This record gives sequence, C-alpha cells and structure tokens, in this order.
Amino acid sequence: MARLIFLGPPGSGKGTQASILSQAYQFPHISTGDMLRSAVSQETELGKQAKEYMERGDLVPDELILGIVRDRLSEDDAQGGWILDGFPRNVEQAVYLESLLEEIGQSCDQVLNLKVADNTIVQRLLSRGRQDDSEDVIRHRLQVYHHQTAPLISFYSDRQKLTSIDGDMAVEHVSASLADVVHQFKR
Ligand code: AMP
Repeated sequence: MARLIFLGPPGSGKGTQASILSQAYQFPHISTGDMLRSAVSQETELGKQAKEYMERGDLVPDELILGIVRDRLSEDDAQGGWILDGFPRNVEQAVYLESLLEEIGQSCDQVLNLKVADNTIVQRLLSRGRQDDSEDVIRHRLQVYHHQTAPLISFYSDRQKLTSIDGDMAVEHVSASLADVVHQFKR
C-alpha cells in the first residue's frame, strides 16, 4: 500500500500520472478537480458554489473542499492507500490534511512533485482546449499555483516527504520514474 500526493502546476500531467499509478497499484485516484467538475455538471449545491471560482481559475474556498476530502478518505476503498491529485492546494489545506491523517491514524508516504516550465504548460493547456483553458485563465491559474500551491514544495521537503520529477518528458518516461519512486515507499 502507499499513500501519495501529487504536486505540480496545472497541465503538469498530474492527473494522467495519478491515473496510471492508480491503475497499476489499485489505489483510488482522488482528484478534487474531478470531484468539483462532476459537482458542477450535476448542478449540486457544491457545484453551484464552486463554479465561478473554477471558471476564473481561482481556488475554491477551503471550506467547500475540506469536508469532501475528509469524507472521501473515510470511504472503504481508501483504507488500503490512495493517490491525492489536486489536494492540498495551499498551506492551510496541507495543515488540515496533516491533522486529519493524524486523527485517522494515517500518514502520507511521499509527495511527488512534477516539474514543468511555465511556457510548456501554457502550450500544453492551450492545445488541450478544456473550457477553463483560455489563455488568460491559464495564466491566472499559473499565478495562483506559484503564489498558493508552490509553497507546499518547501512544506513537504522540510518534512522529508518530497521527491521532484522532471515532468517535461514523454508520459511513459515520467511514469517509469514515478514507478521507481513509488516502489521504494510501497509497503
Ligand atoms: P484541477 O483539475 O485539479 O486543475 O482543478 C480544477 C479547478 O478546481 C481548480 O482550478 C480550482 O478552481 C478547483 N480546485 C481543485 N482542487 C482544489 C483544491 N484542493 N482547492 C481549491 N480549489 C480546487
């Protein structure tokens, strides 16, 4: 089993890599972005509240996201390990996660940080053409990443939990590098 967190800018390939690892190891892939997109498309209360933040490329407020992560991590399929993708997204969420995990007697094994240059990201996201992917929104999401999410790199390296991987390689090279890392932490 392993409990892993993916860190990296939007468009770094986190989602793709988390999904590959999740299939290889049979741990649930928990993506807060996917959960929020599905809430928006089902027009749930959460979706209605999250929508405008997502469209602007801002983070949704912590109070909307913390409860859904807590609930998801308490589900049966998450007891044998998990891969978090898109959470935590700021220091407050990371502190919350630390105390939540302590409370439920778990801890994260390793944080996998995918490094990709800003220009590469803009090109990748523009070619992906998702609705929240106009160039202005992409640049805003990158700013939000640098201001709010990138501080988690030192947060987790201070805790000796961080492994950085060059995300600017072919998908299969990135997954091979990740598999090597995960192998060391799998119990
Ligand atoms: P993602 O697919 O992870 O890039 O997430 C898409 C959008 O959902 C983000 O731009 C945010 O608006 C929102 N979102 C996803 N995860 C979080 C989170 N942990 N905290 C706040 N907002 C989030």
